[in-house]
Amino acid sequence: MKILLYIILVTILLATSSARYGVVAQQSKVREYRIANEHRILEEFVTLLSIPNVASDHVNIRRNAALIIEMMRRRGLEPRLLEAGNSVPPAIYGEWKVPGATRTIILYAHYDGQPTDPKQWAGTMPWQPTLRSAALEAGGTILSMPKPGEKIDPEWRLYARSASDDKAGVMAILTAVDALKAQGIAPTSNVKFFFEGEEEAGSSHLGDIIRDQKLLEADAWLICDGPVHQSGLKQVVFGVRGDTNVDLTVYGAKRPLHSGHYGNWSPNPGLILAKLLSSMKDEAGRVTIAGWYDDVAPLGETERRAIEEAPHYDNELKTQLGLARTENAGKSLLELINEPSLNINGMSSGDVGALARNVIPTTASAVLDLRLVKGT
Ligand SMILES: [Zn+2]
Repeated sequence: MKILLYIILVTILLATSSARYGVVAQQSKVREYRIANEHRILEEFVTLLSIPNVASDHVNIRRNAALIIEMMRRRGLEPRLLEAGNSVPPAIYGEWKVPGATRTIILYAHYDGQPTDPKQWAGTMPWQPTLRSAALEAGGTILSMPKPGEKIDPEWRLYARSASDDKAGVMAILTAVDALKAQGIAPTSNVKFFFEGEEEAGSSHLGDIIRDQKLLEADAWLICDGPVHQSGLKQVVFGVRGDTNVDLTVYGAKRPLHSGHYGNWSPNPGLILAKLLSSMKDEAGRVTIAGWYDDVAPLGETERRAIEEAPHYDNELKTQLGLARTENAGKSLLELINEPSLNINGMSSGDVGALARNVIPTTASAVLDLRLVKGT
């Protein structure tokens, strides 16, 4: 279960200690706690995953917030809602004050999930958590939830909307608190908790909430909303790329035209869009838009060394993903995600398959996402 990796990650970060061996010892104590409590952890997680969590679903998003408040209250974390308006999903705040601590860290996760339409789901539903014997792509079959005392195989996978992104973050953080408290381990920093409810909807009120709240001042934020390394190793990432979207529409004739009657004469928006998009990157995968890379802040020595020392896993990844080649050959994935990127999220013009017709469509649309780095 991916959640367990998050628990360990958070635990390492929480249980800061000057002695490295001390961290390792604490880590094994926490693992013991997890093994002894995994049925209860799984049960609590399944309850959280069962509540629909699309940010625009005002009723259910607040049911999630209420449950998380309850979960935090049980742990003595003095939770409260941070509101930005009645129609805005609330953020949830909590704190664990440590006597004598001079630093403060904030642990962040988000409890909303990507929008989805259950009617388009086949098999299990998004908010009916389902246990499988392995990952879906590895042929995992559905299992019933384990009975008390039954062994939980770490290779089992729990499927539900936000089972990883990012209710796993909420659950892992709260479970790490349980584990530390049960083992009598106190963090050396004050710990604050911030669980957001509209991250997948663009976090449009996050700035307001943070600006208005003095209590969100801290020495560092730990964003528990990222993946494990592709090799399966735990990782801490110092920063993420930003993202901005572009909606692009090319217009042709006012009405669809018969291609036999107008082809060669009336411009085709699909072709114009395709040419426009293909002009944005060269064959090697480099963005060709003027000035695209001009403002990129170069990586420092520490960042470059971190990239060099990280596991090299590109070849294994290519095999796993069935890729014969990658873009920007000669540069690794880690190097390339430190540069701005231009990606096509989706394209649409006319119909394909059974609905394809001999028309010159009236429009062609694409959605792009532009990943931004420091300086851009
Ligand atoms: Zn996320």
